Amino acid sequence: MALSILTEKLKPSPIVEIFDKAIALRSEGADLVDFSAGEPDFATPAHICEAGIAAIRNGVTRYTPTDGTKAIKQAVIKKFRRDNGLNFKPSQIIVSSGAKPLLASAIQAVLNPGDEVILPTPLWASHFGMVESVGAKPVLVSTVESQFKLSAESLRQAIGIRTRLLILCSPSNPTGAVYSATELDALARVVREYPNILVISDDLYEHIVFDEIDFATLAAVAPDLSDRILTVNGVSKCYAMTGWRIGFSGGPDWWSDGIRALFSQTNGGPSSVSQAAAVAALTGPQDFLREWREIYQARRNFALSGLSAIDGLRTLCPDGAFYLFPHCGELIGRKTPRGRIIESSSDLATYFLDQGVVVVPGSGFESEPFFRLSVATSRDEIDEGLKRMKNAVDALS
Ligand code: PLP
Repeated sequence: MALSILTEKLKPSPIVEIFDKAIALRSEGADLVDFSAGEPDFATPAHICEAGIAAIRNGVTRYTPTDGTKAIKQAVIKKFRRDNGLNFKPSQIIVSSGAKPLLASAIQAVLNPGDEVILPTPLWASHFGMVESVGAKPVLVSTVESQFKLSAESLRQAIGIRTRLLILCSPSNPTGAVYSATELDALARVVREYPNILVISDDLYEHIVFDEIDFATLAAVAPDLSDRILTVNGVSKCYAMTGWRIGFSGGPDWWSDGIRALFSQTNGGPSSVSQAAAVAALTGPQDFLREWREIYQARRNFALSGLSAIDGLRTLCPDGAFYLFPHCGELIGRKTPRGRIIESSSDLATYFLDQGVVVVPGSGFESEPFFRLSVATSRDEIDEGLKRMKNAVDALS
């Protein structure tokens, strides 16, 4: 039996590898501090849950339109206008079962095999996998030298005759880097020169930005490019609704029509109950977002100071999301007490795991030598995890 050539080519994520090891260790009773979480540790706010419960009680349990109910589309339109100054018609909105399938279909809708896609690295592994899964070619552009942000110059250098798409992610998973309006404007100037290039802006972490930084998104910075930009967002990360599975996009009709056509054959509409809950999230009180932001920021500061006390790690202060992405190059080549040489961030992650800390190696983000740790966990856990990491690093020779 054989898988398709494209499926065969897909590498399983190294994130899953660490995850599986951590699950196995935990089932044997290991005491682990888990810094691998890609989701908030907060519960979905009560008023949002209540809207979902009311939907069930009121019999809102049937199929909905493939691209979302009228109510959720109106809520998304309102959100884009209120938060981003973007104006969309209902036909330009797609609501899906999480942002992930939406991104995958948005990519599938516009790429042909051999098309090139510019992916600034460090990247979110699924952007890479989605591009590969349609036979397109990821063109990786390192941003390590430019504070984890793609510069106009590097973008220009990466563009070739087959370039069709650029994927931006801000705030970034895994680095937490946030593009300012000025930085996006510089990228827009380059995109403007190449009429065949489309852009997906993955804004999933929009509300998790620190130090009074203003979130900016490309479609708002460059309205003249609106026919070429798909803005993707969702309630998973910012509203602590990862399990509800609601993502959405706003973009040109031609692109939205393509995604809608794909979804009509492959996905169907998202959960009716989750859509009702997401309406409450997007149109209800927004003040808890600020409270959560402050909590994440305090944890970021706490984790940063703990990391700075560990010799051999260098960590850029992230402006958003709930991740830190330390550089661990100075630890490569060092020896563990058991005599194993640390040759990569994966080896380091495995060593940390043996010492009771779960982190995600940089290879999962096409970036060595780095690893990701998430502060979507309590201050006590951060404190304990960093102590274990420090002891582990101090024990290297
Ligand atoms: N985009 C980014 C950058 C993410 O980190 C994630 C989740 O990890 C997603 C999209 C997917 O979001 P969802 O859970 O809504 O499918």
